[in-house]
Amino acid sequence: MRHGTLLGMVIPFFLGLGCQFLPARPAQNTQSYRAEEVGLSEWVAARPHSPQASGVRVPVDEEVATRFAEALRELALGHIAGAFEIAASVGYEVVEILDGRSRYLALIEINGQGVGPLVVLSTNPTRNLIAEAPHPTFELGTGAQAIELVVSAGARAAILAGAHRCASSTPSGCDGETSVCNKDYAPPSISYVDSDVAHSPSTLFHSAHRTLADLWSDAIVVQLHGMGTGRSRLPTGKTRPPEEWTWFVLSSGANTSVPDSPLSVRARDVLRTLVQEGDVRAVSCQDATDKQRFQHRNLCGTKNVQNRFLLGLPIVCTSGTTEMSPRFLHVEQRFDPVLNDPVEMGIMVKALKDVVPEQAPGQLR
Ligand SMILES: [Zn+2]
Repeated sequence: MRHGTLLGMVIPFFLGLGCQFLPARPAQNTQSYRAEEVGLSEWVAARPHSPQASGVRVPVDEEVATRFAEALRELALGHIAGAFEIAASVGYEVVEILDGRSRYLALIEINGQGVGPLVVLSTNPTRNLIAEAPHPTFELGTGAQAIELVVSAGARAAILAGAHRCASSTPSGCDGETSVCNKDYAPPSISYVDSDVAHSPSTLFHSAHRTLADLWSDAIVVQLHGMGTGRSRLPTGKTRPPEEWTWFVLSSGANTSVPDSPLSVRARDVLRTLVQEGDVRAVSCQDATDKQRFQHRNLCGTKNVQNRFLLGLPIVCTSGTTEMSPRFLHVEQRFDPVLNDPVEMGIMVKALKDVVPEQAPGQLR
């Protein structure tokens, strides 16, 4: 670990401009900026996360969300000195990660317990893609996938939630219900809680989503989730045989079919080709025939507040819609066999490489 070694030096990269050189920066008197030589994936995997039922408070005041957004925007624009000063005012710091020949910038809590999100920015992105993992400690493997999209697919950024989605028992006030925070996920369903950042907009996770989605207004946002067997059980209570399992449910944030070929249908088609085990393995919420043909869980992200923000809905917490987003891809993946297997979980990364076109280094601004 190196501390503050880059201060006052030429910083040989600039976000969005590839590996172009910047003029030397004046020395900064701050403790908030440091660099670490470490593998990004291992470093992220070692970050803390507040656990289930820890009771931590995930929502923040508007002023804190605004300052966090300002710090992240500065960082994404390459204004590192400005970014770390603003970040420090809300308990965050900037860390430069040197992973072999690759460089990343991360925004993390200072001495945090993993309440707020972790954001990683690529300094040399080649795909106009933002990867989000709102439930990385509940849906294990999704955080690693988001980071892998940055490392091997050249995504612009990854946003990983800090606290467990069930850290709090306070309702978020947003519409929708779930039983995922109950013992054994048993009914009844209850309102989403305010630590569930996909359903809780007054959070730094949502603030990071808004900031980066606004800054890179053409970027595709992929949100990675994991799903259990649930409704893939037979009426007898037995699990369906493995050959009937749907591994991937893709959605453009709606539960409606569309005549043309939206993102979720394109991703489904690529996954079917990659998996080569029949159409049941990957389904799209934008294709009504998938629903008729297969008994998959119909998890389409229709109440997802990040999607509602992308759609420009006035009140993301409660504004229902059947509208489909051209730039949002909600991905549900079975734990077994996809997320539980380090090799199988890479299928989604491969599929996204196919769906989102690669651009030459330095082209993305
Ligand atoms: Zn999830």
